[in-house]
Amino acid sequence: MGTLLWSRFVEVEDPLAFNCRFEIGNGFVTPFWEARWLGNLCLKEDFPNLYAESLLKRVAVASMGGWVNGEWKWGNFGVVLHDDSDLALVAEDALLRFLLIGRDPFLEGGDKVSWIGSAEGFFSVASCYEFLVVSRTPFGPLGRNDGALYLIWRIQVPFKIKAFGWRLFVNRLPTKDLLSFRGVPFSIENLKCVFCGIYPESCDHSFFKCELVNGVKRKITIWIGKPVGDLEEVCLQSFMDWYLFCKKKKVKEGKYGMIWLAILWIFWLTRNAFCFRNEGRVVDNTVWNIKSLLWKWSFIGEITHPIYSFYEFNKDPLFFLS
Ligand SMILES: [Zn+2]
Repeated sequence: MGTLLWSRFVEVEDPLAFNCRFEIGNGFVTPFWEARWLGNLCLKEDFPNLYAESLLKRVAVASMGGWVNGEWKWGNFGVVLHDDSDLALVAEDALLRFLLIGRDPFLEGGDKVSWIGSAEGFFSVASCYEFLVVSRTPFGPLGRNDGALYLIWRIQVPFKIKAFGWRLFVNRLPTKDLLSFRGVPFSIENLKCVFCGIYPESCDHSFFKCELVNGVKRKITIWIGKPVGDLEEVCLQSFMDWYLFCKKKKVKEGKYGMIWLAILWIFWLTRNAFCFRNEGRVVDNTVWNIKSLLWKWSFIGEITHPIYSFYEFNKDPLFFLS
């Protein structure tokens, strides 16, 4: 099938386009929004807000980005986002970027097409998609966490950390309680929280209620100079608590939720090290790890304090975050 036919698909929105699965080569002929090339998704349907706003409709996948020094970079999908852009639009943009990770076109080789049902699909993306957003964000009615999710997207941390924060909010981290619910077999012993080894692991327990985790949080709280309140918390309350504290302390806007994310990200890494690499149940290093991660992140987008040592940062973290 030649280019002419693909352009016809796009021109008249031929229903054939919806029944084919496209495999991206150089991306020159596959319609970005209309064709099913990213798992089972049809971006036009699954990202309705973004599509409605886009000035780049009816273009090929390769038109949505370009090669910079041998590296593929996705562009803005024809949508210019502003600080006051609609939340649904921002969330769709972020989610689409997440799903496009590892889906760059190739420098060479044409696109291929097959009938749905006859080809092995891209199910990892589809399941990832489902994993992240099946609950409500960003297509359903706004939930009570959505305002906070929006704030997470604005924190100056690497993208995967924002995605982690998002998954934490919508309870979509692969914690043992959820895996077990989906049929992954665990012994009773293995279901337990890796930190305390007493209660079953769940997002709620292992990040917000576990005594051991809260012991570390207490140390970080004191280090930052934040009043130590009741540490048995829930996700949203805990995030907003840190967020508002940082705002009050004149921390830079892109860094409001950074401390909160650093704490939870380090616990997630520690948990994974224990589960997958059998590293000890040790939380001793977590305080140090959180501090040094924050020091590293504190440089992102920084112009006021161009350089400072960890030693300086450790003495007065809020100064360098403000
Ligand atoms: Zn625990």
